[in-house]
Amino acid sequence: MSRYDVEQVKQRNPIEEVISRHGIVLLRHGSRMSGLCPFHKDTHPSLVVYPQTRSFFCFACGASGDVIDFVRRLDGLGFRAAIERLNDAPLPAQDVQRDGDYLVKVAAAVPRRELSLDDCMILTAASAVYHNLLWQTPEALSYLLSRGIGEVAIRRCRLGYSDGHALRRYLQRHRLSLRRAREMGLLWKDGGERMARRIVVPELRGDQCIWMTGRVMNDHTEPKYRGLSLPKPLLGYERVRGRQRVYLTEGTLDYVTAVGWNLSVCALQGNKVRPERLSFLERARRVFLVFDNDERGREATAFLLNLLGARAVSVGLPPGIKDLNLLGQSPDGRETFFRLVREAEAREEVEHALPAP
Ligand SMILES: [Zn+2]
Repeated sequence: MSRYDVEQVKQRNPIEEVISRHGIVLLRHGSRMSGLCPFHKDTHPSLVVYPQTRSFFCFACGASGDVIDFVRRLDGLGFRAAIERLNDAPLPAQDVQRDGDYLVKVAAAVPRRELSLDDCMILTAASAVYHNLLWQTPEALSYLLSRGIGEVAIRRCRLGYSDGHALRRYLQRHRLSLRRAREMGLLWKDGGERMARRIVVPELRGDQCIWMTGRVMNDHTEPKYRGLSLPKPLLGYERVRGRQRVYLTEGTLDYVTAVGWNLSVCALQGNKVRPERLSFLERARRVFLVFDNDERGREATAFLLNLLGARAVSVGLPPGIKDLNLLGQSPDGRETFFRLVREAEAREEVEHALPAP
């Protein structure tokens, strides 16, 4: 085997992807990535991966090398066998399988101050495990489809599903702290998963998960949503931060629906509005309010119209349609919504162009 062939093997098998395929969650920090080292009892991410130089190094046990060394060591193979295994490995798939990887590309995103690096790793791992499970759970996929939520929205929001036991096993296998997982509200005291049998909607910063909520698939079960025991963030913050046209919704599935339509949208996760939480709207020139078609939704809309002034536009939903998600379930929901937005905006412009009576 020539040196050229070896270089080709390395190029075809990006080290970060191969390591992720081995079930190790990697978090990105600038040009480096870090994760739990599989070569010693790692409890704190000591393994650093350098995609640019196609190499890895563990600060705790000193393990180091390239992608071939990694596979040799982890799978207990000789040089030639390791190369063969890499050559046999499936090329990065373009289909659903791609999302089965635990590769977590994290922009140099700032985790919330109250979350340690280990916390972020646990949450990001949970989100990856749940997302992977969702693709394998026809019942959950068909529930989402029945709510008008398809593949695009699932990928964009990295939606997930908890089967009730995969996360705990994953955390144990990778020696991530079950105690922290419990404290953050991922696990019950008895070790069961709090998101069990729920659709999981994570809040992402970069690709890092900082929070999540689980929704039941059967509306008769209470509570309908179960969040973590961490401060509830604005869902979709990064989609709207600094944007000029922003859509503000009430519910979690309204948000997911609008993300499927590629809107710069966020959800208050309720209809209570605290003015001090709206500073992210400073740059927004247009804020489309898409609240529920009920008394409390109208109250919240009136409050925000008053607070935001001429920048805010209320997008009323058609009679009988209680929220954006329900609109999204009808075949022409998307077209109807964009028409309503255009009409609401035109009305607003006419009103402000008219001289005062
Ligand atoms: Zn190590």
